[in-house]
Amino acid sequence: MPKFKLEYIWLDGYAPVPNLRGKTQIKEYEKFPTLEELPDWGFDGSSTQQADGSDSDCVLKPVAIYPDSTRNNGAIVMCEVMLPDGTPHPSNSRATILDDENAWFGFEQEYFLVEDGLPLGFPKGGYPNPQGEYYCGVGFKNVGDVARQIVEEHLEICLDAGINHEGINAEVAKGQWEFQIFGKGSKRAADQIWVARYILNRLCESYGVDVEYHCKPLTGDWNGSGMHANFSTEYLRETGGKEYFDKLMAAFEKNCDEHIAAYGPDNHMRLTGLHETQSIDQFSWGIADRGASIRVPHSFAKNDWKGYLEDRRPNSQGDPYAIASRILKTIAEVPTS
Ligand code: ADP
Ligand code: MN
Ligand code: MN
Ligand code: MN
Ligand code: MN
Repeated sequence: MPKFKLEYIWLDGYAPVPNLRGKTQIKEYEKFPTLEELPDWGFDGSSTQQADGSDSDCVLKPVAIYPDSTRNNGAIVMCEVMLPDGTPHPSNSRATILDDENAWFGFEQEYFLVEDGLPLGFPKGGYPNPQGEYYCGVGFKNVGDVARQIVEEHLEICLDAGINHEGINAEVAKGQWEFQIFGKGSKRAADQIWVARYILNRLCESYGVDVEYHCKPLTGDWNGSGMHANFSTEYLRETGGKEYFDKLMAAFEKNCDEHIAAYGPDNHMRLTGLHETQSIDQFSWGIADRGASIRVPHSFAKNDWKGYLEDRRPNSQGDPYAIASRILKTIAEVPTS
């Protein structure tokens, strides 16, 4: 029987931003295993800020499996961290999602590629041309010599893995990029963001490049990085209406602080009211308004207030499980009749 290399990956207990961890288990299967065929596994939680040394065992529970085309017979296995008694570990944000298979999420992950502490394409000790030509740009002076190669390889590996990328683009700052992932089911979308981040981090190792997910790595007139969360429920897609929309926005406004708390650290550095953002302490919505907290697409307003909405506040370092969990919690507070 062929031996499969199963890379079990999970989120550690670091705060406010968990790190990805992974280790390989070799197991024999007739063919590429299904999720149900994967055993739970364990790790030393005292090395990941998830347990004390005196009682260090944590459990890895597989929740999704993806083919890994960078290895022969390879798979990436997304895991939730559980306590030995079978309940979710306190760091397990995925387990807090009020699951809703009818909720669809599209995340737009922005990030910088950095080498020796500088975004790719920044000259040592100086600055490149100001922002303007980099967004969706082309050519060495705009993109540099290696960034696109990384971005293209990342896309190939993700598509091989079955990750539902919708697109990629160069972003407004030099060395800044974006990919979009859409999923039916909030957990499916959020799992795929974490796996895509894992693949990108690992790919960049061989280039001597790191991925900077911080939401505002550069001071001055340089864009920060977000992770806009586009969302819809079955009710929003099929029923909607202005009255329901107004109640939903009132609930988002009431829970503004709780949303910000779930949307990634240091967001005050990014949500300034400039660079296509609303201030961190204000809530607003607007049709096609990229300076609002929530952008209502034209298609939504024109279609009797039905469709999907874009929460522009989540940042690039945010945990998509925590973000989806908070959005679904607020939606659940609003009666649909
Ligand atoms: P922009 O950059 O203009 O905000 P993008 O095209 O980058 O727009 O992202 C819009 C995202 O909206 C897409 O990635 C897609 O995943 C998401 N989306 C589209 N339709 C729906 C829907 N019905 N429910 C949830 N998300 C959706
Ligand atoms: Mn050992
Ligand atoms: Mn986008
Ligand atoms: Mn963008
Ligand atoms: Mn967007």
